[in-house]
Amino acid sequence: MQKKVAIIGAGITGLVTAFYLKKNGVDVKVFEKQNRVGGVINSFSENGFIFETGPNSGVLSNIETVNLFNDLSDYCEIEEADETSKKRLIWKNNKWNALPSGLFTAISTPLFTFSDKIRVLGEPFRKKGTNPHENLSDMVKRRLGKSFLDYAIDPFISGIYAGNTDYLIPKYALPKLYNLEQEYGSFIKGAIKKQKEPKTEDDKKITKEVFSVKGGLVELINALAKNIGEENIKTNCNNLEVKFEDNLFIVDNEKYTNVVSTVNTQAIKEVFSFLGEEELKNILNLKYAKVVEAAIGFNNWEGNDIKAFGGLVPGKEKKNILGVLFMSSIFENRAPKNGALLTVFAGGTKREDLFNLPEDELKELIKKDLQEMMGLKTFKPDLFKLFYYEKAIAQYGVDTKERISAVNNIQDKYKGLFLAGSIVNGVGIADRIKQATDIAKQICS
Ligand SMILES: Cc1cc2nc3c(=O)[nH]c(=O)nc-3n(C[C@H](O)[C@H](O)[C@H](O)COP(=O)(O)OP(=O)(O)OC[C@H]3O[C@@H](n4cnc5c(N)ncnc54)[C@H](O)[C@@H]3O)c2cc1C
Repeated sequence: MQKKVAIIGAGITGLVTAFYLKKNGVDVKVFEKQNRVGGVINSFSENGFIFETGPNSGVLSNIETVNLFNDLSDYCEIEEADETSKKRLIWKNNKWNALPSGLFTAISTPLFTFSDKIRVLGEPFRKKGTNPHENLSDMVKRRLGKSFLDYAIDPFISGIYAGNTDYLIPKYALPKLYNLEQEYGSFIKGAIKKQKEPKTEDDKKITKEVFSVKGGLVELINALAKNIGEENIKTNCNNLEVKFEDNLFIVDNEKYTNVVSTVNTQAIKEVFSFLGEEELKNILNLKYAKVVEAAIGFNNWEGNDIKAFGGLVPGKEKKNILGVLFMSSIFENRAPKNGALLTVFAGGTKREDLFNLPEDELKELIKKDLQEMMGLKTFKPDLFKLFYYEKAIAQYGVDTKERISAVNNIQDKYKGLFLAGSIVNGVGIADRIKQATDIAKQICS
């Protein structure tokens, strides 16, 4: 049988896989449960605001993401973050403090204790860790000190994982940081040496810039869907079931040589009923952070200066929100002239209680935090909408090794099946694009 691929789920992972398969002449069909494509990515244009309801931006952190935008350049326009948004803020002592960006600010910042600042000078000479399953808190305390954990890494982890540093394992959750220690013996030494290493042409293109798309991230989804073709995408697929017979997969009464799953753990269980409980045990136990996202817009901004990327709130500061992005400072045309668009995140693994609050109560808590943090005398937004994600971000804990093994075992046993999505290989948009590109390459070869 000629190669024919079914993709389950039309989020960014499924669509990028389908896009590259189609580009290589492979027969592909995408099956999506909802009545629209894009998964958690969606953007809206309302009364002069362009707001996201899922991810707000990505990072050009790998060549696959750079190449995707080049391949789609006739269909959507990448927008890199404004220079002013290089400034990142952390809440401490009832005010925003800029994250240090150079030696002087590193010495003068009130974010870290004097003794930790001195201690950091010894980081390059500290012994390398030997426990691959050490959690992030222990790793950071060991190499940098407690105040770096509390006022740099904890808020950073809220920003990416909405997670807990005691739970996440750097080897899986922050592999680049983990590898710096393992390969170079130190974060600082590793970062300096890596900067000096000769760069390939691909390396030079990986700018690490923050990106969105002109008009919002949904334009990336529209560009992908247009290229895949309406006839190759089936939405509203309820109770989809994949069967495995005679080394082929049957989806919607048609035979396929390959199936790529991009759905979350709950859906894997429902869709792939031929997979046994024992086979799936170490996959289904994946934990996710629950997140509520608020899009908040003001026609006339009367708060503090927001010329920055946004601010993150360390758990120690005991606030309700995890952080706030100043979207109208980062990207163009996100709010009316003189107005502002903010995105606020709440919940995460440390504040799951907020996820279950009635919407009005959560809005009150967000309002209280924002009024204080953004210097707003009154709080009368012209846009205030909440979006709920029960399985927002996968948490790569100590069980990740077993999960990767379980995925590999299933893929070995049922040749042609790929279990993708954020259950493995990273949670960011760029990670999703890389995984999808790699899978399409494997299928084509
Ligand atoms: C609130 C939020 C904020 C985020 N912020 C950022 C950010 O700023 N930067 C960043 O890089 N990343 C961010 N992320 C992470 C990033 O958005 C995701 O990792 C990525 O978009 C996930 O894409 P995906 O295709 O793997 O999964 P999804 O987008 O979840 O797509 C999976 C698709 O499968 C479909 N599906 C489910 N069950 C079935 C079924 N039974 N049959 C058929 N289809 C089914 C779903 O409807 C969905 O369309 C954020 C995520 C969330 C939730």
